[in-house]
Amino acid sequence: MSDVAVEIRDLVKTFGGGRTLFGRAASTVQAVKGVSLELNRGETLGIVGESGSGKSTLARMLVGLEQPTSGTMVIDGKPWAELAATGSRAFGRNIQYVFQDPVASLNPRKTIGDILDVPLRLLCGYDSAKREARKRELVAAVHMPTNTLERYPHEFSGGQAQRIAIARALAAEARILVLDEPVSALDVSVQAQVLLLLQQLRDDLGLSYLFISHDLAVVESISDRVAVMYLGDVVESGPAAQLFASPQHEYTRALIASAPRLTASESAT
Ligand code: ADP
Ligand code: MG
Repeated sequence: MSDVAVEIRDLVKTFGGGRTLFGRAASTVQAVKGVSLELNRGETLGIVGESGSGKSTLARMLVGLEQPTSGTMVIDGKPWAELAATGSRAFGRNIQYVFQDPVASLNPRKTIGDILDVPLRLLCGYDSAKREARKRELVAAVHMPTNTLERYPHEFSGGQAQRIAIARALAAEARILVLDEPVSALDVSVQAQVLLLLQQLRDDLGLSYLFISHDLAVVESISDRVAVMYLGDVVESGPAAQLFASPQHEYTRALIASAPRLTASESAT
């Protein structure tokens, strides 16, 4: 087994184009402009960059929600194109996406038990006894009580709902998680708890994370390596401590300079 969980080569995504209703060329947005990245096994790779820099588009391509315009991806040893040809189930067993808004990502009309049942049935094909046992394991893994399974999403706080969304992402035993602003909607005190849980799960289960955030302090706290995105390009990447201590690219420097919590902690040392 290779040490690389995800390999991204020259990935491009252009939106728009074609013709407008009146036959004019429609304007295009190049959201991702030739990104190459590697996520190593067991590692957290942070992707940081301001809103609109292409982070979510990159994430959505990885998990098969968006078709790349060009470039290649290899996920857990399998070429992306092969997963895409097999269908969404193939993606689901290898790579999972956790969204920013935990409550909105859970179906409000279903109990947590029913929500967790979906991947266990559709992706794993487990019988009902196995599914029930696995659901209990999953809620326990994210430090929630067993009666969570009978309750509905609106009964939980944002932090609890994000724990449940993480449990759902773990259901089909995918070893790679794409976490797109997973704590951005949460209060700072709750953010720390969810980040701690994510680190614990990563170490216990041997997961690899692509961790996206516009928040430098959050990315610095959880990432082994960091890639900085700016207008669809990766302008700089490196070990987290090194990148934050001596940023090379002027955009990274500007980003750090505009982050209040980071500058405060740096000036204190
Ligand atoms: P980020 O997650 O870093 O905020 P996004 O990947 O969401 O950035 O967006 C990158 C760029 O691509 C933005 O200019 C955005 O408006 C554009 N974009 C994203 N999704 C679409 C889409 N479905 N159609 C057209 N443009 C899009
Ligand atoms: Mg985004």
